[in-house]
Amino acid sequence: MSADTDDFTSTRRIGNVTVSLELEMSGPSTIDLNVDETTWRKALPELADAEWVPFSMSSAVIQSGQATLVIDPLIDEPGSRLRNEVEDDYRHWSSSPGLRAGLERLGVANDAVTHVVITHAHFDHCLGLTIEQHGEYRPRFPNARHYLGAADWLEPEERPAVPPPDADTVFFRWTFEEMWPRLDEIQRAGLLELIEGPTAIAPGITLLPAPGESPGHHIVRGESDGESIYHLGDLVHYWFELAHMGWIISESEGRDLQAMIASRRDLLPRIAAEQAIVTFSHAEFPGWGRIVEDGDWVRWERIPLLQIDDLERNG
Ligand SMILES: [Zn+2]
Repeated sequence: MSADTDDFTSTRRIGNVTVSLELEMSGPSTIDLNVDETTWRKALPELADAEWVPFSMSSAVIQSGQATLVIDPLIDEPGSRLRNEVEDDYRHWSSSPGLRAGLERLGVANDAVTHVVITHAHFDHCLGLTIEQHGEYRPRFPNARHYLGAADWLEPEERPAVPPPDADTVFFRWTFEEMWPRLDEIQRAGLLELIEGPTAIAPGITLLPAPGESPGHHIVRGESDGESIYHLGDLVHYWFELAHMGWIISESEGRDLQAMIASRRDLLPRIAAEQAIVTFSHAEFPGWGRIVEDGDWVRWERIPLLQIDDLERNG
């Protein structure tokens, strides 16, 4: 197994499958958990004095035989109206050349993408589903089936027209004024499949329900030649949530703590037993790791980029 990594793209072979992480943005995140600060600082001596932890937003591309999957086309391309707005809001973060540049480096054209997985309907995972042409949205990946958990779909009449009094107005705007029109465009184009339960979408690629972050949240499992990889989406936001199944970043934005705990309890020991390669959307780039058993539970073990082998050298 080898990884080929630059500042924005990290590619790894898993069996006969190529998996690439495409960094979109990264920066420092303050540590905002549903447990009090004294508790988490005590449990995490390595963060005893930390004021922030590294946070990234990455999408992933899986190339397997005839299938090319994009998992979570994130924010939109550099220079676009929306990307500028997001970058303005995250002024202290750094930005990458974007998914388009990442796909170009892999030699993948937008119309060659066969599957798009939206792990969940949160804006930071799917604002890049469309491109804007003459003020209108067009599907970015016009030949791809797009998969979203049915429980995340809201009919237009179910969407609030104005922010509730306690809502974060930026979050509201990016969700209801930016994300939903893009999802609607994918549906109008006949490209959207709403899924329920485990769903095989391509040879060796299965989507598994993992509710909690949202009701329809799914993770991705890939398998090839006896090796496996999991993309956990937002089953965790920080590596230390893997070891502390009841910790989540906040119970706002519709998160369901009990559902999250049940998903982690169900999935994480299985993934540890498989000794799979594991990544998640907000892992510090490049977020390659494994979930290993640790006493009664599990913890994250980052795969260090010590032996960065060149894919071209190693085939
Ligand atoms: Zn997220």
